Amino acid sequence: MKKTISVVTACTVLFSTSFIYANENDTTELDNKLTQNRQEQTTLEGKIKNLDTKIVEIEKNISETNNKIVALDAEITKAKDEIKALEENIKKNEDALGKRLKAINGNYSIGYMKVIFSSSSISDFFNNVYVVKQVVEQDKDILKELDSNKLSIEEKEKDLNSKKSEQETLKSSLVRDNETMQSDKNELESLKSALEAEENSLENELEEIAAEAARQAAMNSSDELSGAVISNGSWPVPGHSTISSPYGYRLHPVLNVQKMHTGIDIPAPTGTPAVATDNGTVIFSGTKGSYGNTVMIQHDDGKVSLYAHNSQLLVSVGQRVQKGQAVTKIGSTGRSTGPHLHFEIRINGKHTNPVPYI
Ligand SMILES: [Zn+2]
Repeated sequence: MKKTISVVTACTVLFSTSFIYANENDTTELDNKLTQNRQEQTTLEGKIKNLDTKIVEIEKNISETNNKIVALDAEITKAKDEIKALEENIKKNEDALGKRLKAINGNYSIGYMKVIFSSSSISDFFNNVYVVKQVVEQDKDILKELDSNKLSIEEKEKDLNSKKSEQETLKSSLVRDNETMQSDKNELESLKSALEAEENSLENELEEIAAEAARQAAMNSSDELSGAVISNGSWPVPGHSTISSPYGYRLHPVLNVQKMHTGIDIPAPTGTPAVATDNGTVIFSGTKGSYGNTVMIQHDDGKVSLYAHNSQLLVSVGQRVQKGQAVTKIGSTGRSTGPHLHFEIRINGKHTNPVPYI
């Protein structure tokens, strides 16, 4: 009989030793993974920020190029208008010259006769012929000048068009660069979300292990806990009783979408102590994604309380805490708009309205 007992005892000792050993090993490995995960996230955040800066720069360049194209378009339109006006002017002058030449040629004899008959002397006749010739020469000069003006404006228009196509080439290369960067950024962001998901599951695993350890500890120290029921706890922020955001669906103040609010928000100045709402064992104390600095306590009746967004954590994993004991100092870490305690109660891993439990 005595022998049997000692064998059982030895087995129990062996079992519990190896259990604790495995447990610690798992935790260390998970902790390392979590640290590595967070480092990778920080690196990715840096890269994303870097890309964002470049994207802003490139978008500025695109908009500047666009402005240049618009300005060139205006100049091109102006040049076209000038060319059109010159063409009209040329046409008018050509018509006038044509009429004059036609008059001279077609009615040369009449004109000749007219000039002769209207000339009072032979020198007057030559003088009149000279005047007619002068007018024609002047018409031709004007046309020549108009033609050369038209040519130079056409040259200018060609130049403007080539500048415009240069800017358009530049713009399309900038747009391509921008697209590449956007897709790089998307890739980095999806990597980051994968890391965030992994971070979450690592945290959950760690919590689960700590909760299991707490349950074991509670079972081992049993007597005081026998017959435990889900009990009423105390209010988590003594002296601050306002609930600024209740449990349930609400418009998220940061994300601006309808979201389930998994706890209650109790505003209080930074540094105000938050207290354990019931006796229990700390199963998490650290940074927890958008929760910021967070403490989770596994209570002896099985419920878990969670204290988020703290400026300071006053307890560590495995520590026993009493109802009313300060466990954190309120802050605004994680995804938070101002100092407050985000308080949750979870039963069997599921959040529930915490109000009935405090
Ligand atoms: Zn909240």
